Amino acid sequence: MSQHPITNAIRKQIDRTSEMEHSAPLFLTSSFCFDNAEDMRAAFADESDDNIYSRFSNPNVKEFVDRLCILEGAEAGFAMASGMSAIFASFMALMKHGDHLLSCNAVFGSTHTVITKYLPKYGIDYSYLQVDKPNEWEALIRPNTKMIYIETPTNPGLDIIDIEAISALAKKHGIILNVDNCFATPVAQQPIAYGADLVVHSATKWLDGQGRVLGGVVVGKKELIKEIYLFCRSTGPSLSPFNAWLLSKSIETLDVRMERHASNAFYLAQALENHPQINWVKYPFLLSHPQHAIAKKQMRDGGGIVCFELKGGLDAGRKFLNSLGMLSLTANLGDTRSIASHPASTTHAKLTEEERQTVGITPGLIRISVGLEHKEDILGDIKKALDAI
Ligand SMILES: *Cc1c(COP(=O)(O)O)cnc(C)c1O
Repeated sequence: MSQHPITNAIRKQIDRTSEMEHSAPLFLTSSFCFDNAEDMRAAFADESDDNIYSRFSNPNVKEFVDRLCILEGAEAGFAMASGMSAIFASFMALMKHGDHLLSCNAVFGSTHTVITKYLPKYGIDYSYLQVDKPNEWEALIRPNTKMIYIETPTNPGLDIIDIEAISALAKKHGIILNVDNCFATPVAQQPIAYGADLVVHSATKWLDGQGRVLGGVVVGKKELIKEIYLFCRSTGPSLSPFNAWLLSKSIETLDVRMERHASNAFYLAQALENHPQINWVKYPFLLSHPQHAIAKKQMRDGGGIVCFELKGGLDAGRKFLNSLGMLSLTANLGDTRSIASHPASTTHAKLTEEERQTVGITPGLIRISVGLEHKEDILGDIKKALDAI
């Protein structure tokens, strides 16, 4: 396969003897048969990746993983039932009692819960690094730091972490670098090319892109994926073949979808930047973004998420949501349809005011997951809601 990775990912298919179907068939089966005892014995041998049982492997799951590996430039991967199961498995398979995790402070809500509530129960300590203070990162590394975990862009603040810089630190100290690439997708950013060892995804978001299924995947270095695979093989967070079949199909349109999501988002960010009801707009490719230069270095586009802060704070946020006509109010992102959310009153309402401030969630912060509708319709609906505040 010597073509562009996007072409290779789209053309990559399940290996099978008969190829009657142009679209991959769905292997809704919990187990696989063997011709004889010898074949079965060989399949159970440690190194085999033969299909045995769908908790371990399934052709649809494998096709999805293979396609994502091509796009991320990864040696190997394993897919799971949700983004959180992929993140959790990457922690549990590679860290043990007495280890330390260094994470960026702004992480997805459930990831924060896993790090602060569950890892300490198993004797895994953590500390958080400030995204905007790279000079302080190295001092946070301890002799027992096993993994550095980052999101970039962060959710929902859209801060950017220099993957190359943090991977240099990880390499210097012999630490695994694990990057949640959910917001950028491999279309915009390939963390492995900048030195990451592992990349995790919530496939529920842009990878599916159509708000249909939950899924998660981790790709990266073969020896690390092997550990994660063995952990999952025994603990069972398996991705269903049906969800994998949908996700694999979605990979075929990821590049064109992300191109439109990102161009719509950039248009929206520019159009809202000087709106009288708005304090600031944040989007990685806006010149005003504090880490704009890093975004330009490691991202091909700015992604599909735009954030802005309403001058009127919490009340204005609620009014804004209630005045939208077209945009959906839902707890997801990365859909064909545009979505608005107000983190301070919804996803991050349980945090204290101070906790929200430290991760950049101000009372008037609005997050838009920009869809595939016509850009003027998205802007028009948002402007109408801004006028109604
Ligand atoms: C949604 C999300 C997750 C969790 O994924 P699920 O599929 O909902 O389990 C993890 N990281 C980021 C950045 C997310 O947006």
